[in-house]
Amino acid sequence: MAPTPSPLAVAVDLGGTHLRAALFTAEGAMLSRTRVRTEAERGPDAVIERIADVVREVMGTAPGQAIMGVGVTAPGPVDEKRGVVASPPNLPGWADVPLAERLQALLGLPVFLGNDANLAALGEYRYGAGKGLDDIIYITVSTGIGGGIISNGRLLTGAHGMAAEIGHMPIVPDGPLCGCGQRGHLEALASGPNIAREAEAALKRGWPSLLANHDGPLTAVEVVQAAQQGDATARHVLARAGHYLGVGIALLVHVFNPQRIIVGGGVSNAGDFLLEPARQSARDHVMKPYRDTFDIVPAALGDDAGLYGAGALVFDTCSAG
Ligand SMILES: [Zn+2]
Repeated sequence: MAPTPSPLAVAVDLGGTHLRAALFTAEGAMLSRTRVRTEAERGPDAVIERIADVVREVMGTAPGQAIMGVGVTAPGPVDEKRGVVASPPNLPGWADVPLAERLQALLGLPVFLGNDANLAALGEYRYGAGKGLDDIIYITVSTGIGGGIISNGRLLTGAHGMAAEIGHMPIVPDGPLCGCGQRGHLEALASGPNIAREAEAALKRGWPSLLANHDGPLTAVEVVQAAQQGDATARHVLARAGHYLGVGIALLVHVFNPQRIIVGGGVSNAGDFLLEPARQSARDHVMKPYRDTFDIVPAALGDDAGLYGAGALVFDTCSAG
């Protein structure tokens, strides 16, 4: 008789546009995956039914196999202990939805919930660019800036599940206005929209650029593309964002003493146009003994980091309990 295969985990990534699910082994092998539109406009009840459907779909690819549980990554803020999704801006009508409990009732399986940036950190730590290390910090730079911290092999969640809001660390007192209403936060200095805004300001000042004849508002993706084509203005704008990112990293290095900082999210496609200035600035802003204690690397799992983390959450929680 063949040995009984070890139980699997289902991971779900609940996004405002797409709903994704995947089936994982404890070793982090993704056995199958699926993606549908979230149809968030239909409200929480319909979305919860759709989540149950995608979970059943990926489970159906391994019939008869034991499933340990379901991990769900959701946009923050999330109450991880109670399994409640608070009120994500991209999920209209969601307010304190007890997602874990509702899914558990539909599926008859244990369901665990985590914040998207925290679970992306867990995914990179367990199966990606942080594999084999105990102390890493993951930073996602896209429309916003978020992150997750693994300290001594454990994901830091904080007293209220609100730890590691890296994008809202104050970097420049009285600096530019942040989306949260405060000033000078990292997100207001280095996120995608800030990069686009800075590029537009440079064009208005008459700096020469491939983007000069651009119609309509710029995006960070276009700035990154221009930098890759050799555009000095685009490179300068990305270097400025990288500089502030490095200041934020220097703060984190003094507090958490990580071995590695992993940078993901859409803007990280800028590669060394963002990361090299960040490395330089982080080095310039830390005390000497810290200089060679950490490195700054691109993420390895891309958009799938959260899915991998949601899978890891199931195995971690079940083996701890
Ligand atoms: Zn802020």
